Amino acid sequence: MKIPLIANGGIPRRRPALFALAGVLATLLAALQLRADEPYARSRDYDLQHSRIALRFDLDQKKVIGDVTHTLTILTDGTPKIVFDSVGLTIETVTVNKSAAKFETKDDKLFITLPAAAHSGEKFDVAIRYEAKPSKGLYFILPDKDYPDRPKQVWTQGESEDTRYYLPTYDYPNDRLTTETILTVPASWITVANGKLISVSNAVKGMKTWTWRESLPSSTYLITVVAGEFDEVKDSWRGIPVNYYAPKGRGDRLSINYGRTPQMIDLFSRKLGVDYPWEKYAQSMVDDFVAGGMENSSATTNTSSSLRHPKLVPEFPTGEDDLISHELGHQWFGDLVTCKDWGDIWLNEGFATFMETIWSEAHYGKDQADYERWESARQWFGQSNLYSKPIVRHDFNDSGEFDGNAYTKGGWVLYMLRHQLGEDAFYRGLKHYLEVNRGKNVVTADLSKAIEEATHTNVDQFFSQWLYGAGAPKLDLSYKYDDAKHEVALTVKQTQKVEGRVGLFRIPTEVEITTASGPKLFPITVSKDSQVFTFPTDSTPLLILFDKGGHILKSAEFHKEKKEWLYQLKHATELADRADAVTALGKLKGEDDVVAALGDALRSDKAWGIRANAADALGQLGGSAASKQLLDALSSVAEPWVRSHVVSALGNFKDNPAIVAKLNSIVVEDGSYRARAAAVQALGRLKAPGALATLDAAVAADSPDGFLRNAALRSMGPLEDDKAVPLLLQWSAPGKPIDSRTAAISSLAHLQKDNKEITRQLASYLSEPHFPVRFASIFALGTRGDTSAIPALEALLKSGDLSIEIAPMIKRQIARLKKPAGGKGAATGEEGEEGQGAAEASAAGNDQGAVAKRLDKLEHLMQEMNDRLKSIETRLPPPK
Ligand SMILES: [Zn+2]
Repeated sequence: MKIPLIANGGIPRRRPALFALAGVLATLLAALQLRADEPYARSRDYDLQHSRIALRFDLDQKKVIGDVTHTLTILTDGTPKIVFDSVGLTIETVTVNKSAAKFETKDDKLFITLPAAAHSGEKFDVAIRYEAKPSKGLYFILPDKDYPDRPKQVWTQGESEDTRYYLPTYDYPNDRLTTETILTVPASWITVANGKLISVSNAVKGMKTWTWRESLPSSTYLITVVAGEFDEVKDSWRGIPVNYYAPKGRGDRLSINYGRTPQMIDLFSRKLGVDYPWEKYAQSMVDDFVAGGMENSSATTNTSSSLRHPKLVPEFPTGEDDLISHELGHQWFGDLVTCKDWGDIWLNEGFATFMETIWSEAHYGKDQADYERWESARQWFGQSNLYSKPIVRHDFNDSGEFDGNAYTKGGWVLYMLRHQLGEDAFYRGLKHYLEVNRGKNVVTADLSKAIEEATHTNVDQFFSQWLYGAGAPKLDLSYKYDDAKHEVALTVKQTQKVEGRVGLFRIPTEVEITTASGPKLFPITVSKDSQVFTFPTDSTPLLILFDKGGHILKSAEFHKEKKEWLYQLKHATELADRADAVTALGKLKGEDDVVAALGDALRSDKAWGIRANAADALGQLGGSAASKQLLDALSSVAEPWVRSHVVSALGNFKDNPAIVAKLNSIVVEDGSYRARAAAVQALGRLKAPGALATLDAAVAADSPDGFLRNAALRSMGPLEDDKAVPLLLQWSAPGKPIDSRTAAISSLAHLQKDNKEITRQLASYLSEPHFPVRFASIFALGTRGDTSAIPALEALLKSGDLSIEIAPMIKRQIARLKKPAGGKGAATGEEGEEGQGAAEASAAGNDQGAVAKRLDKLEHLMQEMNDRLKSIETRLPPPK
């Protein structure tokens, strides 16, 4: 599964103030967490071997009508009952080997009494007829009065434990079964399920019946059904169907976004030495999906927001490839070989994250992969709540198992393992792991064992510190050069607090020392809290790199002089080392040579990631020399993904009419939509005079998928110009695109806070079925501080039609309203933490620019959150 926001985080978090923001979002999303998942695999009484799943749908009632036959074998002598997971299902009849059977439902279970206590090896066919209006697991996306043109879609999402909401079954990963899925749907619909399409036949009253069969066993959370009004594009890899599906009307977006899939299948099959194992590969893009993507066996489901408008596609350097390669990687790691319990989920998610890098590296080159990896390390260190927790853990229910340890750190661990074992040995190990465990459920020890068997290298210590232990090394590095001895003495200190599961690390790595005569590489192993390593050199070092290329997940404070960082930025051959230099130089204010060097890197570094980071650093440094570098760069920097950084950085320079004029012209006439959107946001942040007219024009401007309009609506809040209110009210109204509505609502949170009419309108959105709108409105009402919203929020809370997930969030907003701002510690929810973020920013001595930047990032985070919330929409039952 790919989760777009916190866990997997495409969000750069490099500045301290942002960590608090991440916390805000984590809090918001924690409120949306579902009930706790079972940490350990169950003991089993039976082995579910095959399920024949026949489903029909009542669209008016949003009801699923099911007829399932499970074929299972008893594992435990004396088993009196079969127990299935079943939540909210109305069970009508149950037969065991075709005879009526007694059953009862209790809590989350369906108990079926066997004719007599069964013994091990006995086989049963258990048939269950049922119906349900699922609150999760299966979702209906249908047109309504405000959105009459929406293509109809019915889809499922099983992971982690939601299959039981639409299908009575054994719902934990440690059992595997084959399936036959029989779907009866309107004749004009398309369906997708696991495995091979066997037949499509006519049924009664304009309906058709689709039959799918999956002959390779996999776990129940990987069962999928997608049905509805879809466009289809067919492709193939070595004769295996590779098909893509988009909600009807968006079929023209499939090939341009998904067309590289066969190449990816080919690459992964070759690298892993195990061919793509399933009989087909389908990717269905659905609206309002509850995750970014889900790797159902042979049939991935992804969010339709991955269907980027063809005009925007060229503005994103790697398109949607992270998502596509992630879910494809799971077809081996997760589907063919599956974690036995959620405590070992990194065996799914860490591998899928690692496979993203493999594709990036092969297709987009080493710099791209290195940049993503470098960024992801900053991001992981930014989520401080992860540090003290090991990757493999069973006490995950405080924050959920799908966290940045399973994903980001898990991916890093595999990268480090590859680096230490070498490419050949590493892939030999993976091939063996996949072959030995094919069609099985695994724990982490199965991986270390397979690697040792295949390579004869014992990786126990590596696994111990990185997977069963917590944290990562934090290093303090300094050196002295002894001119008489021609010797460098490098002091390495591990400064992480050794406590709990965090220990000292053993780090085999390389130090490169460059002198006038060239670079020399020295292998070393760090293992103590403080160590001094000496290296012979022929003259004064120009550059010393610890862990050249950045192959270790670590944070490091290397005490170097400015001239060394300047040298490193210009001459280091590996991206990670130059990126570190940009970070260090970005903290040195008021130095002309630093600004000049960053300007140089912005214009001419060979890697776009370094150019983008250099732009960010110049924005952070401020001052007229930095702004000149950025303005000059506009005439040469063409790639939209760097240009948007340059424009965004310009939004840090207050009271500079030349910059405002430039930003205004970018909004209107730049060739890049991303740059134009960045300019819109920069103008809002700068509260530039006359900005409202520019933003108004941007709202009216034609752009793909309303890209500019949404950026402009979102910027009107930070602009704090009350004259924007009528337009925002108009765009927040039902019938407008959901993205535009949430953008407008988020801005209305900040304007004319005493205007009761705004409060009244926002309150009226609370009863809508569109979850992102509801969520944005709840949060906006809390932010506005207008106590007249309290009854509406309280009514919502009492309405009883809420899933428990949203209730805490509403309560926090009510608390905010009852204890208005000003009082310290008044609010314990989002606002409190947000305020803390601002306090941290100023305590750290950050200037206006940093605060502005923080606001910009907040906007960005809100936007991403909206994207994610949109996907959670249908988890909630519609209001009455
Ligand atoms: Zn995943």
